[in-house]
Amino acid sequence: MTIEQTPAEIVLDQAAGCLVGLAAGDALGGPVEGMTRREIFERYGFLNEMIGGGRLGLEPGETTDDTAQTLALAESIIDRGGLDPDDIAFRLATWYRFRPKGIGAHTTAVLERIADLKDWEQASLEVQADNPASAGNGSLMRCAPVALLDHGSMSVLIEDSRLSSRITHPHAECQWSCALVNLVIAEMLAGAEPRRAVDNALATCAHRGDVVYQVLERTKHAALSASEDTLSPGGYVLDTLECSIWALLHSDSFEDAVTIAVNLGGDSDTIGAVTGALAGAAYGFEAIPERWLLHINDWQHMQELASSLIELA
Ligand SMILES: [Mg+2]
Repeated sequence: MTIEQTPAEIVLDQAAGCLVGLAAGDALGGPVEGMTRREIFERYGFLNEMIGGGRLGLEPGETTDDTAQTLALAESIIDRGGLDPDDIAFRLATWYRFRPKGIGAHTTAVLERIADLKDWEQASLEVQADNPASAGNGSLMRCAPVALLDHGSMSVLIEDSRLSSRITHPHAECQWSCALVNLVIAEMLAGAEPRRAVDNALATCAHRGDVVYQVLERTKHAALSASEDTLSPGGYVLDTLECSIWALLHSDSFEDAVTIAVNLGGDSDTIGAVTGALAGAAYGFEAIPERWLLHINDWQHMQELASSLIELA
C-alpha cells in the first residue's frame, strides 16, 4: 500500500492480496506438506522460495486443492451474484471429477456423494454422520471469497461463511472457524490492524449465543501464545485456525507471516493458504513478493475475481 492510494484502491489492493496471497501460501507450503517442522529445517533451512516437489510432485508455484476450491467459490459468487450453495456444490463436484491433487478424505467423500445424490446438504450430513468427530480444515481453506463479498455486514458475513462451510463441512467448529477468519479479513478491509481485527472478530462472535466456544479459545490462545512450540500444525480445523492466526499476529509483513506458517510443517499448504488470505488482506497485493508471483499460474485471474467480489459487495 502506498500513501497515494484512495480508500477504495486500498480495499481493492487488500482484496487482491487476500486471494492471490491464499494461492501464494498454498503454493509455498504444498511441497513440504506432511513434513515436520524439524524435517523442513533439516532439508531446507527456512523455506522461503517456491521450490516445487513434495509428495504431490508439484511444479514450483503450483497451487493445490485449496486454491482450486477458492476459485470455484469466487467464480460461483460472481456468476450467481451472491452465495448459491447449490451452484458451489455443482462446481466442486465437477472439479472433483478431474481427480485434483491433494484433496482431503472428508471432502472426497462428500463430493462423491454429491455426484450421486445431487443434494449437497444430504451428502454433507451423511458423511458427517458416518464420522461425527470429523472437523477438518477443508472448508476453512476456501472461505475467503465470502469475506470479500460480505465485508460490509458482519451478520450476513457470519451466516454466509457458515453456509459455505456446510456444503462439505457441517461440523460447528468448521462453520465457526470460517466465520472467525472471514470476520478478521473483513475487519482488516475496514482498516483494522491485524491484532485489532482479531480482537474485534472475537468480540463480534462472543455476542452470538450459538458460537462454538473452542473457536474463540483457540483464537485467543493464538493471540496470547508467544511460542510456536505450543502449536499443532495439523488438518484439524481448530489447529489450522490457531496456526494461521498465530502466524498473522507474530509477523509484520506478508512474507514473514506466510513463511512462518508453512515452516510449521504438517498441513503446510492449507495453513499457508489461510495465513496467505489473512496476511494478504492485512498487507495488500503489493506486499506479495514478486519472486513468488513469477511462479504462480494465472494470479491475474484471482486479482480480477477479487475486484469483482468487491464490486458485488
Ligand atoms: Mg491442499
